[in-house]
Amino acid sequence: THFGFKTVNRSDKENLVGGVFSSVASNYDIMNDVMSMGVHRLWKHHFINRLDAGMRPSSTEPLEFLDVAGGTGDIAFGLLDHAATKFGDYSSRMTIADINADMLREGEARFLQTKWAKEEGASRVEFLVQNGETMDAIPDNSKDVYTIAFGIRNFTNIQAGLDTAYRVLKPGGIFACLEFSQVENPVIDYAYQAYSFSLLPLMGQLIADDRDSYQYLVESIQRFPKQEEFKAMIEKAGFYVPEPGYENLTFGVASIHIGIKL
Ligand code: SAM
Repeated sequence: THFGFKTVNRSDKENLVGGVFSSVASNYDIMNDVMSMGVHRLWKHHFINRLDAGMRPSSTEPLEFLDVAGGTGDIAFGLLDHAATKFGDYSSRMTIADINADMLREGEARFLQTKWAKEEGASRVEFLVQNGETMDAIPDNSKDVYTIAFGIRNFTNIQAGLDTAYRVLKPGGIFACLEFSQVENPVIDYAYQAYSFSLLPLMGQLIADDRDSYQYLVESIQRFPKQEEFKAMIEKAGFYVPEPGYENLTFGVASIHIGIKL
């Protein structure tokens, strides 16, 4: 896919997102590694530990997890591992939703390599092609934990995605988002901008022969609302956002936002 423009209309953007992720579905880990200099693995690990989700031994109610833009399954399988090793939870269920069927297929292929596919766990995990902005197949008030990592930035209508997250969560349910964000320190930001605007597209070209996809990703990070603004959007969807509102990772290169549906 090739596209060299900065402002896109709605349908173009939808095509663009589909195109970017189809063309890179299997190069996807490499891209994440390049984008974050390998640090995304640590961020994801931290995100999962911070959430600390899983059915507590004192409970008999399995949790309903929903990982949106779940693509490769990194977050979903990590959450299942955490729930099992920390809480002995082998009964909570996981839905992995993504708008792109190719990404989801990649996730399913990876799922077959995990221990979850071998045990009775297999029936606890489902893959659904869904647009995160609407999620027509997910009923209201049906999920306990909604996660989205490096996905919401690609939504055409981010507020619609947040409103939908609120709709599908049960009262008491938790929304948790890990996303590229804005570096707050101006000196570090200067270096980061230089890296992302010149080096990243070049590396994309050298490593994946796909300069344009990397260019698109850099621009999508630029366009994404800053931490405070995104926090306000989460509140607007109806969530209670606990103080201090977000957690910056690596100077704000990424951040975690959490909201609770009261
Ligand atoms: N969460 C995974 C991770 O962190 O490894 C994958 C993130 S990948 C950068 C972004 C994913 O968002 C892609 O799989 C893409 O198909 C998906 N996506 C983009 N727009 C979407 C939408 N409107 N609804 C659902 N998924 C979407």
